[in-house]
Amino acid sequence: MFEQFSFEDHAELIELRRIWEETLAALEDQVPETARERFLKPLRPAGMEGDSAQFIAPGQFVLEWVKDKYIDTLQDEISKQRGRRTKVELKLEQSEKTEPASNLASVVSTSNGPDLSAFRANNKYSFDNFVQGLSNRLAYAGCRAVADAPGTKYNPLFIYGPSGLGKTHLLNAIANEILRRDPRFPVAYLTAQRFAEEFVYALQNNRIEQFRRAQRSVSVWLLDDVQFIAGKDRTQEELFHTFNYLQGLGKQIVLCSDRPPRDLLLMDERLRSRFEAGLVADVQMPDTETRCAILLKKAEIEGIPLDLDVAMTLAEGITGNVRLLEGALTKLSAQASMENLPLTRDLAQEVLERHYKHVGAVKPNFDQILTAVARTTRIEKEEIRGLSRKAPIAHARHMAVYVTREITGDSWKHIGALFGNRDHTSMMHGYKKIRDMMNRDKELSASVKALIRDLYPDSA
Ligand code: ADP
Ligand code: MG
Repeated sequence: MFEQFSFEDHAELIELRRIWEETLAALEDQVPETARERFLKPLRPAGMEGDSAQFIAPGQFVLEWVKDKYIDTLQDEISKQRGRRTKVELKLEQSEKTEPASNLASVVSTSNGPDLSAFRANNKYSFDNFVQGLSNRLAYAGCRAVADAPGTKYNPLFIYGPSGLGKTHLLNAIANEILRRDPRFPVAYLTAQRFAEEFVYALQNNRIEQFRRAQRSVSVWLLDDVQFIAGKDRTQEELFHTFNYLQGLGKQIVLCSDRPPRDLLLMDERLRSRFEAGLVADVQMPDTETRCAILLKKAEIEGIPLDLDVAMTLAEGITGNVRLLEGALTKLSAQASMENLPLTRDLAQEVLERHYKHVGAVKPNFDQILTAVARTTRIEKEEIRGLSRKAPIAHARHMAVYVTREITGDSWKHIGALFGNRDHTSMMHGYKKIRDMMNRDKELSASVKALIRDLYPDSA
């Protein structure tokens, strides 16, 4: 739908995207991470005109929540970034004319209920605009096969890998491909978080029957970020039953997670083994050529004139994940349009220098992490790795676990081994403890972040 914008509109949109990135970064100190992830990041900049900026919310729940709690904060910050008083307008994601009529929304009456139309896929993601490479070949092939013949081949299909590598994209592409062929096909896309929220809502409002009917009326069930419900017993139980019900009827199930089934440690063993029963495929960081191809594709979609050598410069400079890569392209094109410059290698280099100097740098190793934590907490390295349960020592240990996991992304088991063969669940709890504390305690949060920053020697 953005293609209909005139060039000026497009420039405004690019500018708004830039402002939005800055805003999200600036809100890191004001809005807890969970809320940012859940409610702010899903908002999509849609346009900017005069004194208003428009955003699209993926569902009623997010829309209401943002309106209730964050609208003032957003307006203030966006106005600040833009240097002009700006009103924020929120709109609900609309599906295009080809309304998938038999989607969940119409299967279940929505009166007083949650907004079920939000189980719809995001139509900006397709197989066409997904770039295949060695790093995602199996996942891509699995998803294509599922879209071509749901419920017949890989069931369930389980895709895992770190954030920002295209899992959500692939899941939505399945839905969109199926709906393109048959707009009435009952497909549901939802995150496990949403599943949990709808489930709790249903419990509280005596709507559990409706909830079950909705979840179970689909032929293709696409569940994103299942790691979210690890440790949530009742939701897992419900998920388990939904899973069995759908599978018993030969319905297609596709799941995504940030880690493989065996590493979903707080997940019920029955669920884990079911997740593993079909095809399990991972996505990895694409190689430089594939990253370059992704950039060129994005540029084409956005109407950004990007030359191959400029794309290559960005692709070589940014090795974190695809989301970062896209952000770099947005920054580059915003910079070019603001200063009225062509997109050159030099400009790309400048953007890299300014914003991404530390990204993709060599990761610090475990000993360096321990040394840094020891310095910050004034607890000896040996004690951090030792067995003492004294509060300050345990705190330092938890912090070291947190930093190790953040930096290395290693499995809990592996981290447990680094800390002297400790149990993986205690590693996980240590991590959670620090994360929760950081949400409440700004000072701790700042000091942990500084510690991580300092561990990258060439960071800006
Ligand atoms: P994940 O769900 O794994 O965290 P997403 O699917 O949200 O990642 O991907 C992040 C961004 O990167 C999205 O905008 C997506 O379109 C883009 N992306 C990731 N991988 C690819 C790819 N292979 N081709 C094109 N775009 C990609
Ligand atoms: Mg995702």
